[in-house]
Amino acid sequence: MQEERECLGVTILGSTGSIGESTLDVLSRHEGRYQIVALTANSNSAKLFEQIQRYKPKYAVLCSDAAANELRSQVKSAGISTDVLAGAGALCEVAALDEVGCVMAAIVGGAGLLPTLAAVHAGKKILLANKESLVMSGGLFMEAVEKSGAELLPIDSEHNAIFQCLPAQAQEFSAKRSRSQRKTLDQLGIARILLTGSGGPFRQTPISSLDNVTPDQACAHPNWSMGRKISVDSATMMNKGLEFIEACWLFDAKPSQVEIVLHPQSVVHSMVEYIDGSVIAQMGHPDMRTPIAYGLGWPDRIASGLPLLDLVKVGGLHFEEPDFVRFPGLKLSRWAMEAGKSASIVLNAANEVAVEAFLNERISFTAITEVIDHVLQGADLVNPVDIDTVLAEDRSARGLAERRVIQLALN
Ligand code: NAD
Ligand code: MG
Repeated sequence: MQEERECLGVTILGSTGSIGESTLDVLSRHEGRYQIVALTANSNSAKLFEQIQRYKPKYAVLCSDAAANELRSQVKSAGISTDVLAGAGALCEVAALDEVGCVMAAIVGGAGLLPTLAAVHAGKKILLANKESLVMSGGLFMEAVEKSGAELLPIDSEHNAIFQCLPAQAQEFSAKRSRSQRKTLDQLGIARILLTGSGGPFRQTPISSLDNVTPDQACAHPNWSMGRKISVDSATMMNKGLEFIEACWLFDAKPSQVEIVLHPQSVVHSMVEYIDGSVIAQMGHPDMRTPIAYGLGWPDRIASGLPLLDLVKVGGLHFEEPDFVRFPGLKLSRWAMEAGKSASIVLNAANEVAVEAFLNERISFTAITEVIDHVLQGADLVNPVDIDTVLAEDRSARGLAERRVIQLALN
């Protein structure tokens, strides 16, 4: 007999994005089990309005007052009772509502930090897609999870895979951060974490032509369909660099315990290697609905809407070493994690500014990592003792990066 369960209230931060839409797709297959309480977007009011019409959330948030006013009257005219709120403060409010048990953190970039932390402080079940917030606030984020009793489930496909490959009791400790019961990777018999990455669209492009690639070419990922920022990050492999830092924080791993392996098919989403020689891998389609369904259902399994994986059709699995010359961001990320202090904040901020400048065709593709390298070299690293320090470091690195972009700007 099916166990009676309470309906779980869900807020989706960034519901109009790629992860947001995949989350809605999974949720719509499980009506009765989840209740959509709040949906949020930066400025895409047309898509948010469509989502309001379909899912009738109690709250919707847009970042600008003007856009929210317009949406409010549209919602009213349609006879829908959704309360439309505006501004960054409202994002934090809907992440912390009493009636919300679960928050999907799917805003892109550093803008996701405060709303995600608001959900953490309120002790919610956090489905973490917004890797930038963890890269920025690292130890402070993990301490806040432990203190508030929040539950942290990685949605990034690699980290979700690693989580799935942990021993069952370690998953419980990992999600709940219960320090007293937590074991180190060594105590769990884990030799290393193998973080896989496809290598993106330019894995085999001659290095000499990378200078001239366009934003559309960089966003055309061979396996995954994603937002533009993470698509460019995948093309530079800065995404893997950010994920390397993310893995160190999520699984209490030393940088030397995480290895990046290229796997162009994106079928193995990452692996955990144990001291007895066993390598446990999680496989699946390159579709975020699987990790999203895993996070929503955990510790149960729920359907994601995807067909079963046809391994015969996949044929072969191929692995290779990453090319650190082609992808300098991999070394910069490892350096930042090892350097500690505010290095990861600086790395993330410079990357965001540089990616935006590349997408706006102000700098070339190869200038992205050049900007990051330059800013890391020029930054005075400090100890990020609290979130205000994190935000100040983020702002100052963005300023340095913007100055470098101006120097490198294409004519
Ligand atoms: P996206 O660009 O498709 O969507 C971003 C969402 O964030 C949108 O809803 C947008 O309105 C909102 N947003 C953007 N700027 C905002 C701001 N300043 N304030 C409030 N809201 C804002 O991005 P995505 O691909 O869905 O990625 C979202 C996050 O998930 C990123 O951190 C990304 O690294 C991570 N992630 C994505 C994928 C993927 O397959 N797309 C996989 C793993 C991790
Ligand atoms: Mg990923």
